[in-house]
Amino acid sequence: MSIYPPLSSSTQLNHIRAEAIDWALAHGLIVRPTTEKQQYFEHNAAVTHAPLALYPTPFPRAEFFKAKDLQIPWNTLIHRMSKDNLLLKELMETLSQVDDFMKRLYDIYLQVKTEGIAQSASLGIHRCDYLLHADLGADAHTARIQQVEFNTIASSFGSLSTRTTELHKYLLSSIDNYGEGQITADQLPDNNTVDSIAQGLASAWKLYGKSNARVMMIVQPGERNAFDQRWIEYALMEKYGIHLLRRSLEQVINNGKLDPVTKALTIDGYEIAVTYFRAGYGPEDYPTEKEWEARLTIERSLSIKCPTVAYQLVGAKKVQQVLSVPGRLERYVDDDATADQLRESFAGLYPLDDSLEGNQAYEMALQDPQRYVLKPQREGGGNNVYGDDIVSVLQKTSVQDRNAYILMDLIRTPPLDNLMLREGVILNGQVVSELGIYGVYLNDGTNEVVNNIGGHLLRTKGVETKEGGVAAGFAVIDSPLLV
Ligand code: ADP
Ligand code: MG
Repeated sequence: MSIYPPLSSSTQLNHIRAEAIDWALAHGLIVRPTTEKQQYFEHNAAVTHAPLALYPTPFPRAEFFKAKDLQIPWNTLIHRMSKDNLLLKELMETLSQVDDFMKRLYDIYLQVKTEGIAQSASLGIHRCDYLLHADLGADAHTARIQQVEFNTIASSFGSLSTRTTELHKYLLSSIDNYGEGQITADQLPDNNTVDSIAQGLASAWKLYGKSNARVMMIVQPGERNAFDQRWIEYALMEKYGIHLLRRSLEQVINNGKLDPVTKALTIDGYEIAVTYFRAGYGPEDYPTEKEWEARLTIERSLSIKCPTVAYQLVGAKKVQQVLSVPGRLERYVDDDATADQLRESFAGLYPLDDSLEGNQAYEMALQDPQRYVLKPQREGGGNNVYGDDIVSVLQKTSVQDRNAYILMDLIRTPPLDNLMLREGVILNGQVVSELGIYGVYLNDGTNEVVNNIGGHLLRTKGVETKEGGVAAGFAVIDSPLLV
């Protein structure tokens, strides 16, 4: 490939920027600006375009389809792990002493299992995230996908990613020389994330089988920056005629009722067929006992949970590490070929507990911290430790508290060039992209009713930023240019 993105004069670049901003604003590829920029409008009426890549970022075609092909096996794998009581028990033996949040989730899991599970169906809306890896000094063409993590709760950015694919297609078709012969429409794969998530929620709603019941989305109280959630709500309404209620955990406890006999959950007079969590993944979402009570009430209820507490527990980074131990993944996968394909995408993962392996990993990390990432058991970005900081964190952490972490090989992605647009400002530089593949899965307690690949997400960040959060302001939304 010649120079990419194509060199543009400042006049051309201004034109591309103006086109991108208008298209984004007109098509809902938008976010709310930061609070201080909201001040000129009342009632949060101001929006800006989502942070985005002006050109799609090249991604190897074979690796893209490899990631997509792994998603259906992943959906089944996550479900089977969630049914493995011993796996969850083993997980908590490591975590319960050091992680109160995970312990409380596990307590809910145990309590509801003892009482008897009212709803045997479960809905999964997952996202598996990958980075490309090439060994130091190796040709960038040897880059292969390595899994960063799998998310089983509140996987976001589905709608923004769908729109970004459309934006890049629009720019290609409407601007002369936008791709300079380097981009063709068939290199921009279709991306149906919003529809696939809405379809998953609709399938669960149908399985519940009550035409006047509603879907409830659990959101953070007072959440404003929620277009990504609203698109799913609108798709559910417009395509399937299904109403969705947005409620915080606090509202569930204040206004919700659980029928003591049928376990039907009603809120403000509406029966809830499906509870879809877009909040509740971290301790910040449970500031008081009320929120925990709400989580228990939902888990006890007849509503179909997305995710169940068990799904959330197996999404733990510790489980990702346990799966990488030879023989462990294979317990949940029927055929060897699929297990091999899944395993091929695993980066090196190590425990940091007081086992032989854990102590070896501890020594490795101290000796060569640049090769690793230290990860605590948390979701949502900004928690990882890199390089020399690994040494200082490990040295001040007791053997016991090390259980809260896993160690992972640093994935080294060959950087590329691109132009990023944030609040109207173009940033030019070397970037690294993380590919996410959505998975939608419904099991009625006996059979797989839905097992689909959703769409995809590409998040692109400057090489110098370690973490990948778009919401946190580190990254932009992008789409892959298959090469
Ligand atoms: P979170 O639950 O916070 O999203 P992740 O495991 O996704 O946790 O890590 C956050 C970010 O850190 C990722 O998006 C990626 O940019 C970076 N990261 C995580 N693991 C690795 C790794 N092994 N090598 C390189 N970068 C990583
Ligand atoms: Mg992540």
